[in-house]
Amino acid sequence: MVKGFSCLANLILCGIIFCVAIPVHAQTGNLLVIRGGTLIDPGRDDLGVPGTIIVQNGLIIAVQPGDNSPAPPSAQVLDASGGYVMPGIADMHNHLRSGMFKPGGNPAAVLSSLLDWGVTATLDPGVPVDEFDQLRNEVSRDRSAYPRTFLVRGVFTTDGGWGKGYTPETPDEARAIVREIKAAGSDGVKLMYDDMRWATTRPFAVMDREIAIAIIDEAHKQELMSFAHAPILELAKHLLEAGVDCLVHGIISEPVDAEFIDLMKRGNTCYISTLTMFQTNVGYDKWVDRLEKFDLNKRLNPAAMEIFRKAPSGTSRLDNTAWTVARLPVLRLNLFTVYGAGIPVLIGTDTGIPGVLPGISAQLELVMHQEAGLDPIDVLRAATTTAASVFNRKGVFGTLREGAQADLLVLDADPRLDVGNVRRIHHVIRAGRVHK
Ligand SMILES: [Zn+2]
Repeated sequence: MVKGFSCLANLILCGIIFCVAIPVHAQTGNLLVIRGGTLIDPGRDDLGVPGTIIVQNGLIIAVQPGDNSPAPPSAQVLDASGGYVMPGIADMHNHLRSGMFKPGGNPAAVLSSLLDWGVTATLDPGVPVDEFDQLRNEVSRDRSAYPRTFLVRGVFTTDGGWGKGYTPETPDEARAIVREIKAAGSDGVKLMYDDMRWATTRPFAVMDREIAIAIIDEAHKQELMSFAHAPILELAKHLLEAGVDCLVHGIISEPVDAEFIDLMKRGNTCYISTLTMFQTNVGYDKWVDRLEKFDLNKRLNPAAMEIFRKAPSGTSRLDNTAWTVARLPVLRLNLFTVYGAGIPVLIGTDTGIPGVLPGISAQLELVMHQEAGLDPIDVLRAATTTAASVFNRKGVFGTLREGAQADLLVLDADPRLDVGNVRRIHHVIRAGRVHK
């Protein structure tokens, strides 16, 4: 069990000798010293022992095994002895909605609640266009109040296609919209490329392939990442041939084949399974049983759980969820295959879809990755250092390295033994600010 934090002066008064080497360049302002916890960085093998992390102005400035010399009296000291310190979790598919049936809501409130569950980085691949500017401004206002947030402005779809968004009719029109998205400050583009046959007996229209190719090509010219909703194998391959950067849902239609793996490897394309979202198709009553069992600290709202228990699964249009449920083992197998092939796997939930609740879903997604056969440390890597690499922020977040943002979790139990221990959160630290 880890202890709380206190000012160093109190520790000295209590007769506890605190000693850690503070780098000579460290100023005395805004110093946080996290001491005694076992340091876990899934991206490096040289830690794994109790040590000290020194944070200044939100950045990690020193990481040291053990402890050696006095810290300035002004330092805030967090005693993590007996605990475990790791980088915060990245949930890279999150629509910043409540996960209740009501559309709308306050994305900034969802974002700040994610921190309580240990999510310190996230991607919303499809912010409604009319909400984008306000949300972008809000998350830029105080980095320590919200997770590090990547935002994609709108989604591309087609007339009669899945989702609401841009529906260009020609490749040139598609390219012009990509340039508009870039100018608006988006972190990428998102394509819906799915007839939804996995959820409905009356499939949706799919975007023209030439338009999809133009979107991805123009995104690359504009130095934007391209994200795709494409869980049907043959359709995903169209986008992989065009060089798409990330599949934000796992392949559920059938087992992936050698051609798919080759295409993924060639493009170093990232793979996000969203196991939680697919799993809600088992029916909300069963799903709520699972959530309640998983909710270690009993933080879920019982009234909200009651709403799900009474809700029918599926809708008149999404009438084929039994097909999805039958293929959940294929989805898990595909994750295992893709990971084994060395493809960058990230954690993502599709939070905001009914039943996929903020924060707890990210924790559960980690556990579902473990259940699919990944080792806990591999799951932790997907949730931290791999996410940073894919988003071109290696060393900036998702690591305990010096120079990285201090986005950290202090846990009461070792997540390397069971990744479900990410639920045993003692403190969340975002950009050096300690959230209790
Ligand atoms: Zn989504």
